[in-house]
This record gives sequence, structure tokens and C-alpha cells, in this order.
Amino acid sequence: MSRQAKLLQVLNKEIVGCRKCPRLVEYRECVAREKRLAYRDWTYWGKPVPGFGDPHAQLVIVGLAPGAHGSNRTGRMFTGDRSGVFLFQALYDAGFANQATAVKRDDGLRLKNVYIAAAARCAPPDNKPLLSEILNCRGYLEREIDILQPRAVLALGKIGWDVFLGILKHRGAIPARVGYRFAHGAEVDLPEARMRLFGVYHPSQQNTQTGLLTPAMYARVLGRVRRFLEQDPILNPEHTEKRKKTLAQGRGRR
Ligand code: SF4
Repeated sequence: MSRQAKLLQVLNKEIVGCRKCPRLVEYRECVAREKRLAYRDWTYWGKPVPGFGDPHAQLVIVGLAPGAHGSNRTGRMFTGDRSGVFLFQALYDAGFANQATAVKRDDGLRLKNVYIAAAARCAPPDNKPLLSEILNCRGYLEREIDILQPRAVLALGKIGWDVFLGILKHRGAIPARVGYRFAHGAEVDLPEARMRLFGVYHPSQQNTQTGLLTPAMYARVLGRVRRFLEQDPILNPEHTEKRKKTLAQGRGRR
């Protein structure tokens, strides 16, 4: 097992045992006891949901928080709810996953070059974690970023975007969050952090069922993320050299 994989394993164990937010502990456990009728045969996870994906990922996805009957039931990020159906199909189509479906922890899903994290790890009432709960949980995302040192971060929604920028501000990598406005398709270079941040609308049912968010919109952004990673001069110096040569040859022919 690689160093990153070991560190993530230790971190994930810590996350799963976390009880820092009394309101969320009560809610996640209550949902797990009471269950939804359709899932009455399931043993709900009912604990914080750790990060999931490739321990050598160059892309980290920052979601919001587990769904009460989705990952709070299955124990894996975005697994078992409508948001996950949309997200994993998009990741599969863009070549970041080996399959398009995610139904339970042992369903064979593997992410390629992607690690999924979140602003909060426990299912919140009404899908809305409090600011204090997000701050309680932020350290876990910081540690994931430190372990993975990704070249790209994709924020699923404004909360993920703000939380990630909050980490950079706290570390002095950016002076303030105000210059970085969230929008679907937003993209900013963060040279101090040696990475690029991308933003997309969260794949919640509210967004996907109203047509605010479509598969084509995710495909465009994921395509840009992929091209960025493929052409990144730090990750692919060879590609950059080839590109420089091609450009120089083009200029020579003019
Ligand atoms: S939200 Fe995060 S900090 Fe709060 S109890 Fe869950 S894992 Fe712990």
C-alpha cells in the first residue's frame, strides 16, 4: 500500500469515529434507526462518510454533505441517491470512473484519478449543515488536500467552493475569498496553491430535475478538467515541451 493510501486509511478511520457535531450525530443516527420504508431491509451506515476514490488522484471533488438516505445509508460518498446517479454517470462518461452506477460499497466502482471529499461528512437535516458544523469538519478536507496534493479541485456547488477557498485563505494562499465568484463553469488558477479550481452546480435533484443542470453541462466542465490535467506542465512536462516545439515550428513556417 502506498504512503498516501495508508495516510488516507488512518484519516478515514478517524472521520468515521467523529462525534464533534451533536446535532448531526443525533440526526444521522436517528435516520439510520427509523429508515425510509423503501430501505427497511438495509442496515444503515449512520456514521460520518469518509472520502472515497483514487489515493493518487490529481483531481479532488468537494461535495456538500451526505444524503440522509443516500450515503448515510450506504456509507460511500454519493452512493445510493439521485445526485450520485447523475454524478457517477458524468464521471464515467468523462473517463474518471470504471462504471456509471453506484449502489453500495462493494459494487465494484473504482474512480480513476479522482477522490471525492465533502464540506461536511454527516448527513444534515434539510441537506443544510450549519456554518459551525462545516468549520468543525474542515480539518478533514484540509488533511485530504495535504495528502493528495491535487492539481485540480472541482467544487460541487457554492458551499464546497467557499469551504475550499476558506482553507486557502486560512493558509495565506489567497488574500480573501471575495475575488473568486462561484458560477457553474467558473475556473480560477491558484498559483500559490499550485492548483486550479473549477466550479459546477451541485448535482442535487433540485438542480437536475428542473433542468438547471444537464449532463451536457457536466460533460463540458469535466472535459476541461481532463484537458487541464493532461496538459498541466507540472504533471506532464513532456506534453508541454512537445507543445512548445509545435508552436515554434508553426511560427517558423509563417
Ligand atoms: S460533520 Fe464532520 S466534524 Fe461534524 S460530526 Fe460529522 S464528521 Fe465530525
